[in-house]
Amino acid sequence: MPVLPYAPLRCRNCRSVLNPFSIVDFAAKIWICPFCFQRNHFPPHYASISDENLPAELFPQYTTIEYQSPGEASSIPPVFMFVVDTSIIEEEMAFLKSALSQAIGLLPDNSLVGLITFGTLVHVHELGFGTIPKTYVFKGSKDVSKEQLLEQMNFFLFKPKPPTGVIAGARDGLSSESIARFLLPASDCEFALNSILEELQKDPWPTPVDQRASRCSGTALSIAASLLGACVPGSGARILAFIGGPSTEGPGAIVSKNLSDPIRSHKDLDKDSAPHYHKAVKFYEALAKQLVHQGHVLDLFACALDQVGVAELKVAVEKTGGLVVLAESFGHSVFKDSLRRVFRSEDKDLGLSSNGIFEINCSKDIKVQGILGPCASLEKV
Ligand SMILES: [Zn+2]
Repeated sequence: MPVLPYAPLRCRNCRSVLNPFSIVDFAAKIWICPFCFQRNHFPPHYASISDENLPAELFPQYTTIEYQSPGEASSIPPVFMFVVDTSIIEEEMAFLKSALSQAIGLLPDNSLVGLITFGTLVHVHELGFGTIPKTYVFKGSKDVSKEQLLEQMNFFLFKPKPPTGVIAGARDGLSSESIARFLLPASDCEFALNSILEELQKDPWPTPVDQRASRCSGTALSIAASLLGACVPGSGARILAFIGGPSTEGPGAIVSKNLSDPIRSHKDLDKDSAPHYHKAVKFYEALAKQLVHQGHVLDLFACALDQVGVAELKVAVEKTGGLVVLAESFGHSVFKDSLRRVFRSEDKDLGLSSNGIFEINCSKDIKVQGILGPCASLEKV
């Protein structure tokens, strides 16, 4: 496949790319788009074009080519948001902490990292703290809107009046100082992350013997998505969710806390008699839509003997092209090896990619029916 080291020339009407099927008027420096028949002027840097001096994209044999704009891929750092379940037994907690601290050591130096932990409540950890660790705590039982989240976390907004001393140039009206409190380059926050992990305790809220542990997976994932949406929209970010049991609290709960209510089985799902199922799926469909819109991915590491709720959650993983790892314990090699692979491949720039977009332009009278695979429509016609 020929790779051209510059950006493609697009039709100003339909955004199709200049190709060997375009009709070119060399004298007038005009090309006609074969898809919509729009006449386009060549830009100044194509001024020397002639039938003896063709750019590569007009070579008749180059009907399939690849463009690579200089600096395009390498300038944007990958972003990893760790979302960690703490409503698990001490033994699992120790396995998970050790796997995570290994993973932190494998993060590419330029990647940005964030940390959210959850159980009964959701804790958003401020990694860019000065001397004392700081967390923002949210109720697990209620979904938090993006506006509420930003307000509660004291995000500085540029508009209407920027506070003094804020660095300009961040996206979406958020100051880069605000973003840097929660998403830090891996090389700068390895120590902070490791010390938070070391101190991390099992969810301290007591669980009565006749009840399941309180676990607000849905609220935690929603907060992670909104935080990434506010800080790094449109860049390759992944939420890495580590979940060790069923969600029992807030939106996306798959079963009640009461142990006398059994967890839904395949049979219940088949018979459509799982009481929480549709509500949870609806919640995760909305989360999927939000993540697709932001260009972000959800990866799920579900490690438990019990169910975690993948049937409800899977829509958000599938639509964002994420991966699911299922194991019975955070100590299991399937989990530990898979987690290592995520970062190894990222490091070598193989395998794992983020935020890919397919754009398809058709000839008149041809329409795209659909696509196979883990994708979601951007709903552009
Ligand atoms: Zn066109």
